Amino acid sequence: MASLSPVLQQATPVQVAHGEGVHLYDTEGRRYLDFTAGIGVTSTGHCHPRVVAAAQEQVATLIHGQYTTVMHQPLLQLAERLGDVLPPQLDNVFFLNSGSEAVEAAVRLARHATGRPLVIAFDGGFHGRTMGAAALTSSGAKIRSGIGPLMGGVAFAPFPYAFRYGWSEEEAVAFALRELDRLLITTAPAPDVAAFVIEPVLGEGGYVPTPPAFLQGLRERADAHGILLVADEVQTGFGRTGRFWGHEHAGITPDVLITAKGLASGFPLSGIAAPAALMAKARPGSQGGTYGGNAVACAAALATLDVIEEEGLVANAAEQGVRLLEGLRKIAADHPGIADVRGLGLMVGNEFCTPDGAPDPAAAQAAHARAAELGLLLLTCGAHGNVVRMIPPLIVTADQVDEAVQLWRGAVAI
Ligand code: PMP
Repeated sequence: MASLSPVLQQATPVQVAHGEGVHLYDTEGRRYLDFTAGIGVTSTGHCHPRVVAAAQEQVATLIHGQYTTVMHQPLLQLAERLGDVLPPQLDNVFFLNSGSEAVEAAVRLARHATGRPLVIAFDGGFHGRTMGAAALTSSGAKIRSGIGPLMGGVAFAPFPYAFRYGWSEEEAVAFALRELDRLLITTAPAPDVAAFVIEPVLGEGGYVPTPPAFLQGLRERADAHGILLVADEVQTGFGRTGRFWGHEHAGITPDVLITAKGLASGFPLSGIAAPAALMAKARPGSQGGTYGGNAVACAAALATLDVIEEEGLVANAAEQGVRLLEGLRKIAADHPGIADVRGLGLMVGNEFCTPDGAPDPAAAQAAHARAAELGLLLLTCGAHGNVVRMIPPLIVTADQVDEAVQLWRGAVAI
């Protein structure tokens, strides 16, 4: 009998047996309110009947087509259907399995299309664990430590994390853009930069919405220097932030969009979208993979799109997100240790600090563990692990939000 590698770090001790809607049930039959959604994946809830039916039907029809060998219908239908939700300029798509692979695909495309070697990522960003994606990741040391050398040609610029700097958002944006401009004339000269890669909400790095003015500043600089703006919407896409895509909050359009997680309700599927003329600059055969655009995953994604549309999940994410934020802010008002509560849609973070303003991971971990004991599953994030984040399925109701807020009140009352 083989045992599991200790390399996996599990956020909770729960052994899950099944899931339904916003709930997970453990092997003893105990019910948990799942405000992790499989790290922002099961947006339509666990085992949504529409998704289950579509996947079951596809399993009985064709499981694996293999898109570099033959083309299959679910993939073609999904490409067509994504045209309804993508910005009109991003009219060309390419599919893979995981977020990390899609990030690497975007970097390959950017380097091929521009002929330039450098990529600029932002402090605290998370883009994945494969060696190329890890090279762009700076959300925490454990992703990078001891595994280098990673992919070269990556420069990091500051992210406007206003709360951490103790600045206003305007000050943080002005600082971060000033530093970026300095980078572009010093260590990462603009003519050598292929792409900026950024999350519309800093995810694993602490759940910090990227200020719209910063994304607008990146758009301007990308246009001025022929740099591609790549939005990593792996976590923020598919309605999570209360708009279909996170970048919409800034009123800008990226050149390349990366999607995964919520795309297929839990089946492994990711993709990149770009204008056809840009995608045509990728060298044929330079991208692909055995399982990319799997037929069952594509069928699940089509059903996911139906559910999002028919159940109004984007609007629900916006509405319940505000309710959650308000409830959590009331709790923070009574608990000085919760120094900041922030978020966009159903991506909400509670940052724990000591009285002198230093990150307080111990308090965050204690509240996180207590919440799980009380039946509320959550995750932590941030470079210091001092942010407790909440990412429920987008089907969450007002009553379930209120229940989670009540459980959280109990979890922090220690
Ligand atoms: N980008 C972002 C913004 C993410 O949040 C993640 C996963 N947390 C990834 C990329 C990597 O995705 P995956 O784990 O599917 O490789």
